[in-house]
Amino acid sequence: MTDRYAVIGHPVAHSKSPLIHAEFARQTGEDIAYAAILAPLDGFREAVFAFRDGGGRGLNVTLPFKHEAWNLVDRHDDYALDATAVNTIKFEGRLSIGFNTDGIGLMRDIRDNLGCQIKGAKVLLMGAGGATYGVMGPLLREQPGRLVVANRTLDKATKLVEHFQAFQGTTIRSLSAGPYDMLEGVDFNIVINATSAGLAGIMPPLPRHIFAPGALAYEMVYGTETPFMKFAGDCGARVADGLGMLVEQAAESFFIWRGVRPKETAPVISMLRRKAEG
Ligand code: NAP
Repeated sequence: MTDRYAVIGHPVAHSKSPLIHAEFARQTGEDIAYAAILAPLDGFREAVFAFRDGGGRGLNVTLPFKHEAWNLVDRHDDYALDATAVNTIKFEGRLSIGFNTDGIGLMRDIRDNLGCQIKGAKVLLMGAGGATYGVMGPLLREQPGRLVVANRTLDKATKLVEHFQAFQGTTIRSLSAGPYDMLEGVDFNIVINATSAGLAGIMPPLPRHIFAPGALAYEMVYGTETPFMKFAGDCGARVADGLGMLVEQAAESFFIWRGVRPKETAPVISMLRRKAEG
């Protein structure tokens, strides 16, 4: 019998997840159907349980429900617990287990697809919202030499860093938070934009010298060239958007649900890029 999965969000019509998982199912021969569910803003819990009670096996959770999903599930994996956000739910009967695969997806894209070494690197992570919480655990596990979290609202970055210091148990000397204006005079090997500023056509206030020679500029937004990507390219950095992260986090969800890893993610990334270009 075909097993049913879905992405749930509000809005959700734009989601590329049905396309990605259909391609993974084709690659692996797994018998699944994958849909998109638009949940009312005040009806997430009911929509999740209706899907589960109708025989659904798992869900991807997208904006704005990732934190609500964290509160709703019965159990969490370590990354989801740290992130206080869940983007993947697996149902085992009535039991729901929450995972967060965003950080794993980002690490696979930066490390494996883009061939960029994170261990020992100086990393700047911009933003202190859900996406930043989601990637912090896997990023720290890669042991960057230095990790600075910069955010427009400094208080949020400070809280986030305190949260991860507490979860890790020991003080991570290389981890700090700060405002953008403390970035004068320093440079980084990897600069990750985890803000939503690009969606509004806004550039975070970065100095031009922020990119060390050979640096990677990673924009989590995909489907458009953001001001950050343009700026980074003009400064001579290597530029990547978040499409690879999207596909890699989906591959990890697929593995969690099916116990089978999609054979290849590169053709799926290329296919989505071709579709986006027209
Ligand atoms: P969020 O929780 O709403 O947080 C937004 C963050 O952006 C906050 O830190 C906010 O700063 C900052 N921000 C917004 N406008 C800004 C501006 N004009 N200048 C500077 N900072 C600004 O959103 P999120 O869930 O973290 O998602 C962030 C982005 O990541 C979204 O665009 C999302 O599409 C993308 N994303 C991509 C993937 C992927 O697979 N590629 C996965 C997850 C998320 P304040 O705290 O000061 O408001």
